[in-house]
Amino acid sequence: MDKKNKLGRVAQEVAECQKCPLYKKATQAVPGAGNPDAEVMFIGEGPGYHEDQQGLPFVGAAGKLLDKALDSIKLKREEVFIGNIVKHRPPGNRDPLPAEIKACTPFLARQIEIINPKIIATLGRFAMNYFLPSAKISQVHGQARYITWQEKRLVLLPLYHPAAALRRGQVMEDFLKDFKKITMVLDKIKNKDVEEELEEVKEEKNKKEQLRLIC
Ligand code: URA
Repeated sequence: MDKKNKLGRVAQEVAECQKCPLYKKATQAVPGAGNPDAEVMFIGEGPGYHEDQQGLPFVGAAGKLLDKALDSIKLKREEVFIGNIVKHRPPGNRDPLPAEIKACTPFLARQIEIINPKIIATLGRFAMNYFLPSAKISQVHGQARYITWQEKRLVLLPLYHPAAALRRGQVMEDFLKDFKKITMVLDKIKNKDVEEELEEVKEEKNKKEQLRLIC
């Protein structure tokens, strides 16, 4: 089965999922969308009102800003993959509960496994803390690092949530500046120095969250 079909199968399972109660109040599932071969995968918290209506991630005001930021680094939405930690809208946009996150995690893990992106860019504090539980977004935003998640080595770039950027000028500045790091990290990875470093890091166990910064 090719990557597209594999992702389609995950989306189908997400649409049928009743492992937590979120599906009951949601209009539909929002499994995530984009390129199965994406180098960059964006992960938000969970669908909001517009996403719930359309079944697509980041289609409201925050999504428009995300499109603008993508445009600033010459990437199109079709080239990346955009998903969320939970795939059904939490009522009233409340934060997802631990049991809801746990129920949804296998879907995200499979999406990451299938796409195998070079960078995972988290959008907002909540998505960042999913991967880096004790990190503070004001301290680590825009800093790419290696992490181990579900026994997989990932390059993580925490970004502010575009909705937060829309609320505060300083956050907007940081969000747009940090976004440029995506290109820098991709370039580094393509130049191989990061991969060499990764080999080194692989041998070092128990490095957990504060693994070395990439840039
Ligand atoms: N906010 C999120 O975290 N995810 C979406 O899909 C939309 C808004």
